Amino acid sequence: MLWLATTAPLHAEDPSNLSSQEIMNEIVQDAVQGHHIPEPSKKTEKSIPSASTSEMCAKIGAKLRSVDPAWCMQFQLQPTDARSVNGLPILLKEYPPVPSRTPQARVLLLGGIHGDEYSSVSIVFKWMEILNTHHSGLFHWRIAPLVNPDGLLRDNAQRTNAHGVDLNRNFPTMDWQRESRDYWVNKTNSDPRRFPGPAPLSEPESRWVAEEIERFRPNVIVSVHAPFGLLDFDGPPTTPPERLGALYLTLLGTYPGSLGRFAGIQKKLPIITIELPFSGVLPNPTEINTIWSDMVNWIRGHVFDRKPRKTLTLERPKP
Ligand SMILES: [Zn+2]
Repeated sequence: MLWLATTAPLHAEDPSNLSSQEIMNEIVQDAVQGHHIPEPSKKTEKSIPSASTSEMCAKIGAKLRSVDPAWCMQFQLQPTDARSVNGLPILLKEYPPVPSRTPQARVLLLGGIHGDEYSSVSIVFKWMEILNTHHSGLFHWRIAPLVNPDGLLRDNAQRTNAHGVDLNRNFPTMDWQRESRDYWVNKTNSDPRRFPGPAPLSEPESRWVAEEIERFRPNVIVSVHAPFGLLDFDGPPTTPPERLGALYLTLLGTYPGSLGRFAGIQKKLPIITIELPFSGVLPNPTEINTIWSDMVNWIRGHVFDRKPRKTLTLERPKP
């Protein structure tokens, strides 16, 4: 595993003490080592006043029929420090540990990495509604229902971010420079919807996801997409869920720069990729609940944070 041969000082300290830039440098070095990585584009850091949660809820509510702005406000989503290319905040909701119970695992749930997959955002709100009532402390959740706000909230929603980058091809997988470009040119015929970007983590939205993985150290990631109507899985253990609701396991393999390859294959961090059947239509309420309960039950049976959080970084080898 080449990425283990790191010069990273991360193991010496809690990653939460590192700046975003330091974390990002670590992540890219870990994965791509030796290759020349251009600095991420500074043009992403515009001095645009950030939208508040209420402004974001108004925008999301205007776009998604199933997310009413007032209902969106009930979740008390918090703007993270991360800003999209157009300066919109990535919103986060945390369901933290409860005092009486040590959570079994940390779960990072992501919707809307692709901005034209509306249902992948809406269903995360529906699931947060379940957690609002039933969060028991079994897991510690961090949930970002809309990772790519610029893609969803423009007049014509698009898969890519505002730079035209497919965020799910922008993660720093091994040999990204060569492989992602080769794949894009030769396998997708330079499909602009699948452009991997100028450099790994060149985009603020993918950078936030990679940094959040370092900060939160999730034991499992759930990433929601549409419209292939299946369930995909990467990483350990070797017993992925067979189905979640009516979505059956179909192992698709991974792509250069995809979150599945970055997290599941490279970081050995299990990642459940849910592909809802339609981008513009949610599953019915029963199916929404069944996918959720099947997912929670699978995680309960298969994912454990066996070590206290602080010691997790010791799993990295010394340089
Ligand atoms: Zn997608």
